[in-house]
Amino acid sequence: MNKIEQMLRLQQQLNDATNGENWEKGLTKNGKVIDWKRCTYLECAELIESYPWKHWKNIDAKPDYANIQIEAVDIWHFIMSQGLEDYKMKNLGSIEVLADTIHTLPNYEQFTAEITATTKNYYDQIEVVEVLMKTLFCGESTENLMEAFLDVAMQSGLNLDKLYRLYVGKNILNQFRQDHGYKEGSYIKIWNGEEDNVTMQRILEENENVTPEALYEALEEAYPEG
Ligand code: MG
Ligand code: MG
Repeated sequence: MNKIEQMLRLQQQLNDATNGENWEKGLTKNGKVIDWKRCTYLECAELIESYPWKHWKNIDAKPDYANIQIEAVDIWHFIMSQGLEDYKMKNLGSIEVLADTIHTLPNYEQFTAEITATTKNYYDQIEVVEVLMKTLFCGESTENLMEAFLDVAMQSGLNLDKLYRLYVGKNILNQFRQDHGYKEGSYIKIWNGEEDNVTMQRILEENENVTPEALYEALEEAYPEG
């Protein structure tokens, strides 16, 4: 199975487990309204906040590229969810069809190549994120959303392999959070003085080829249970 299809399947599983079956109709099993587009544009805002764009504050700060990548992966969760919802509700086909559609996007080929540093300054990079937000607000097609996301991913230093690795990491962390009281508010987010994201990334860096199952176990071991 290709990496895009694998990620879509993991996202489907995460959404089924978190929200209940038929979340594609727009409601969770707890009756909460689901709005993937709102989820996405708020993550876009978090990504933009990782650039020192404010003209009145910390004007000599540098972009926080490690966090930019984390926010791009957060966006990817929600963009895939929107795609999965669109494909199911508009009867556009199976997950395989959605994966094939992504494979034929005009910038997909470039996305599978080696990572090359963007030559854009950070103001221009922010505008690329705003193009993605525009596709959301203007109700553009799933394909346009995906294409705009790939541009954001690439300028953030992510190609297919790197996005896959970080996504699997964050997906497993999200499953772990749900299994440990995230929705109920009892989840512990700071582990021995660092955010759970940071611990997860360190485990991934120490073992690049860790399986999803082994990563989950390593998180279990690191979790500071009271
Ligand atoms: Mg954040
Ligand atoms: Mg975020």
